[in-house]
Amino acid sequence: MIEERFDAIVVGAGMAGNAAALAMAKRGMKVLQLERGEYSGSKNVQGAILYADMLEKLIPDFREDAPLERHLVEQRFWMMDDRSHVGLHYCSDEFNEQRPNRYTIIRAQFDKWFSSKVREAGATVLCETTVTELAQDANGKVVGVRTDRGDGEVHADVVVLAEGVNGLLGTRAGLRERPKPDKVALAVKEMHFLPRETIEERFNLEGDEGVVIEAVGTISRGMTGMGFIYANKECISLGIGCLVADFQRTGETPYGLLDRFKRHPSVGRLIKGSEVKEYSAHLIPEGGYKAIPQLYGEGWVVVGDAAQLNNAIHREGSNLAMTSGRIAAEAISQVRSRRAPMSAENLALYKRMLDDSFVIKDLKKYKDMPTLMHTNSQNFFLTYPQLVSRAMQNFVRVDGTPKTEKEKVTLKSFVNARSWIGLFGDAFRLARAWR
Ligand SMILES: Cc1cc2nc3c(=O)[nH]c(=O)nc-3n(C[C@H](O)[C@H](O)[C@H](O)COP(=O)(O)OP(=O)(O)OC[C@H]3O[C@@H](n4cnc5c(N)ncnc54)[C@H](O)[C@@H]3O)c2cc1C
Repeated sequence: MIEERFDAIVVGAGMAGNAAALAMAKRGMKVLQLERGEYSGSKNVQGAILYADMLEKLIPDFREDAPLERHLVEQRFWMMDDRSHVGLHYCSDEFNEQRPNRYTIIRAQFDKWFSSKVREAGATVLCETTVTELAQDANGKVVGVRTDRGDGEVHADVVVLAEGVNGLLGTRAGLRERPKPDKVALAVKEMHFLPRETIEERFNLEGDEGVVIEAVGTISRGMTGMGFIYANKECISLGIGCLVADFQRTGETPYGLLDRFKRHPSVGRLIKGSEVKEYSAHLIPEGGYKAIPQLYGEGWVVVGDAAQLNNAIHREGSNLAMTSGRIAAEAISQVRSRRAPMSAENLALYKRMLDDSFVIKDLKKYKDMPTLMHTNSQNFFLTYPQLVSRAMQNFVRVDGTPKTEKEKVTLKSFVNARSWIGLFGDAFRLARAWR
């Protein structure tokens, strides 16, 4: 066990932990980072889209050596029924810019690289070390951690909890509750390997251009969830996730959903002939603003997924994790520079700074969305996708039926399925939750 005392201990070496450890080490703080995985990233799962802006704030020249896959020039949104999809595609050559805005990455490689920057900045990074408990003094103040390496305690002025969505450490110490099944999604993901040229041909890409597809509809069998397909250089990341409460309610399995998703005619042709080399499953915090726990206390702060900072509507998580880690580091560093104690009163600065950032502003904007989606999942994830698909088929199929008659059929199908009151109610509730 390490005898020395640290300015800060960071638990976890994912996006949030690496951001916090890096930002504090760069400010000259003595930082110990503990990660239970064999290496940073070995246990981490993501789609994965990397948002450049948030990484640039930590490592401005990251493009020089970060393991990036493709820069995104196209985003596709699909609303699917069992045999078709209605798509909204946005593709722009403007994204072929000098400093692209979004990339696909492979987390195992990316986190390893990120961790090397944390070490270079001077932090002590110990992998294969699980933090088993927070060490607290007689007044309940967090003063350090205990690990599976030995009996002793490692002490620090402040502990940054960046332990990811499960957050067992924080819940065990009574700092927050375990995420409830209706606030957390279970996602499964596979990596499908194909020759580079095949990927570029199938997705209509040139060079390192990339595309991501986000999909909703009957693929989630009426449960609150989404599928995704992201093009990397020589593989395609493909996955689907739904709320744990919905899996419990329906008895559907994540593997069953993934299998159906892959066999969908729109998806099957993209991955045809591929070799699956990786399979993973992970939770995603999806409770939004209302699920955010207490973010700071006596001698501790919590960042990233452990703090439920995830924007499920925009499928953003790693950027909120990096930003909360960086902001926590800035707040801690400010308290330290005043030579003030790491008390709850002083660490409240972290929350004030986070409230002022896009992280909380965005989550606040969508605060009613998670409940709306969950309580209306049958309509939003099953009925409407089916209706929209049939309406589109009716619209484009040329069969001699007069157009006015076609419009009447489509309108009737919507009214029969939801009634006028239901349709207006859904539109109103959606608009109100979106504002
Ligand atoms: C399938 C899927 C797809 C996603 N796609 C995207 C996407 O495309 N873009 C995006 O921005 N976000 C995406 N996300 C969300 C994103 O992955 C998370 O928001 C982000 O990883 C959170 O970072 P974090 O550091 O808080 O947690 P994590 O990355 O989970 O890191 C937590 C770390 O803590 C370690 N740890 C946990 N407990 C302990 C302990 N007791 N002791 C020591 N170490 C410990 C873990 O091993 C892990 O390394 C996706 C998530 C999933 C599951």
